[in-house]
Amino acid sequence: MTIDLRSDTVTKPTKGMLDAMLNAEVGDDVYKEDPSINALEKRLADMFGMDEALFFPTGSMANQAALKLHTNPGEQVICDKYAHIYNYEGGGASFNSGISCKLVDGHRGMFTAEQAEASVNPPDFYHSPLTSLIAVENTTNKGGGACWDFEELKKLRQIATKHNLGYHLDGARLWNALISKGESPKQYGELFDTISVCLSKGLGCPMGSVLIGNKELMQKAVRVRKILGGGMRQVGFAAAAGLYALDNHFERLADDHKKATEIGQLLSKHSAIEKVEPIETNIIIFELKKHIDESQFLDSLTEKGIKIIGMGSNKLRMVTHLDYTDKLHDRFLEIIENL
Ligand SMILES: *Cc1c(COP(=O)(O)O)cnc(C)c1O
Repeated sequence: MTIDLRSDTVTKPTKGMLDAMLNAEVGDDVYKEDPSINALEKRLADMFGMDEALFFPTGSMANQAALKLHTNPGEQVICDKYAHIYNYEGGGASFNSGISCKLVDGHRGMFTAEQAEASVNPPDFYHSPLTSLIAVENTTNKGGGACWDFEELKKLRQIATKHNLGYHLDGARLWNALISKGESPKQYGELFDTISVCLSKGLGCPMGSVLIGNKELMQKAVRVRKILGGGMRQVGFAAAAGLYALDNHFERLADDHKKATEIGQLLSKHSAIEKVEPIETNIIIFELKKHIDESQFLDSLTEKGIKIIGMGSNKLRMVTHLDYTDKLHDRFLEIIENL
């Protein structure tokens, strides 16, 4: 028996999802003739109260397209030092858009409106890059699934408006934040210029992300997606999985959060563990005591069929998900107790 907690991306499509995919009506999406894609895009645009949505194969491509929409080469995006767009998209910000990142030294991947405003370069000071975008992430990945305080996001909106900056949300795991905080997609739609969401994380789809925004930006987004090589044909099969996931796998995220909290409680009592970061959603980040060797610890888990990932400096990460069943959870809690 393997218990794979490396990421919420390791899930396989359920029987119900596969049936939905098999029965999907499809067409050539490059001609905008795929009814399933059109339905998914409309559903997400309506859900967030924004004009239009566009399907992407990956979250990275959706974020990269957003960066391109909001910036010109040489300009700068303000983001946290933990940001996915900076750390985990292969240097795409510079490769695709020719921009640099002004890194904010935030807390768990989040920063304050004051910190953002202090990071805006004066537009008439032509020696520094022109600031054109603020990008935030909710939940934060490297920050351990932390959720932003919505009031801070509102203050950031004011900073963006005041300095004429775009405002992008990397919402790969926004679903988890919505469930954890009892927030609504429309609240987010009112605040941001663009929002990317992943179908392939907690919602359990094999692929797919969606970028949502106003009409003008999204018309440009189709072109940018084409340039990035992301124009797809009968991709309604993937959209059908997404529609199925929104109906069946959204509310259940609360389950993943509950399991993560339970794991965290046990870990925090363990003698090998220095500390467990606060758990708000489905990500658990914990630190081993100094004298414990990380690779030895990982090996001892591997022997028991447990897969998790190391994040460097004796920190490890686990993520709960759809395929981490109640049965696996009970077994895993037992294993931790006896570790
Ligand atoms: C997973 C993730 C993405 C997108 O990743 P892809 O693997 O390209 O789909 C973007 N942002 C965050 C915060 C993520 O966790």
